[in-house]
Amino acid sequence: MKKVTLPDGIELPAIGQGTWYMADDKSKRHDEIQALRTGIDQGLQVIDTAEMYGSGRSEHLVGEAIANRREKVFLVSKVLPSNASFDDVVKACNDSLERLGTDYLDLYLLHWRGRVPLEETVAAFEQLKKEGKIKRWGVSNFDTEDMEELWAVDNGRNCAVNQVLYNLTARGIEYDLMPWHKEKDVPLMAYCPLAQGDRQEILQNAAVRDLAKAYGVSVSQIALAWTIQSGQVLSIPKAGQAAHTMENAEAGNIVLNKEDLAKLDKEFPPPTSKIPLEVV
Ligand code: NAP
Repeated sequence: MKKVTLPDGIELPAIGQGTWYMADDKSKRHDEIQALRTGIDQGLQVIDTAEMYGSGRSEHLVGEAIANRREKVFLVSKVLPSNASFDDVVKACNDSLERLGTDYLDLYLLHWRGRVPLEETVAAFEQLKKEGKIKRWGVSNFDTEDMEELWAVDNGRNCAVNQVLYNLTARGIEYDLMPWHKEKDVPLMAYCPLAQGDRQEILQNAAVRDLAKAYGVSVSQIALAWTIQSGQVLSIPKAGQAAHTMENAEAGNIVLNKEDLAKLDKEFPPPTSKIPLEVV
């Protein structure tokens, strides 16, 4: 599978697993845990969750799914901006660790930017790193200007990743944010890489359907494979069904050629001017 390298040199498979809305419906719990475990077995090392998801229920479910498999997983969680002060970050991290049933996170992200000065949140992340509670930290939903500000604060350059919205129908980051990240050698994580799974614009598109037919894969696999072609993006589709997880793992091996990419560019044009970062 295609890989993405973090600034500290660690290489990760370019497809991981999201968990938003997992644990919201009790009747789906068994399938969701099975889906995550199937993903781990298929080499989808990164699991992304957040204290926000189901007010901690998603972290509990992830904890159950990764019990006895912790060392195979690169575990990501996020702190809410309302918990971004020094003391609250430390408390929120401890609470997340408890729900996840582990004593460290591989990556801890600021979910989006709030009112707390970046210096303070970064100082808390660095403290957690010293204590061994997190291995590294990053941000989410930061546009280019936010990244510039982060780069100017003490230890801000220790940021390992920026997690943002990216899929065939949301390509705004290609104009300035992706080039900025490339120059700084900091990868991006793509959230909603399948546009939340129900975007007819992608599912019904003739070019995407033709490519899926040509490669003998599903339309979703083409959409997902497209997100990781640059080599600087790690995609975290959420799949609550093991069959979907299997497909997503296979999508990590699809290599689209120049002609394929040009066909997709025609249908889903890249940005030609600055588009403020889109969020969900
Ligand atoms: P998504 O991954 O784009 O789409 C999820 C939907 O796609 C689900 O309905 C899922 O169905 C379906 N799906 C998955 N694999 C499929 C396949 N192979 N074929 C057909 N359908 C498939 O949307 P998302 O969950 O919103 O985003 C992904 C993750 O990014 C989240 O779960 C979360 O971890 C993270 N996220 C972060 C932020 C942020 O602010 N940082 C915001 C949004 C999301 P089933 O569940 O039925 O399999």
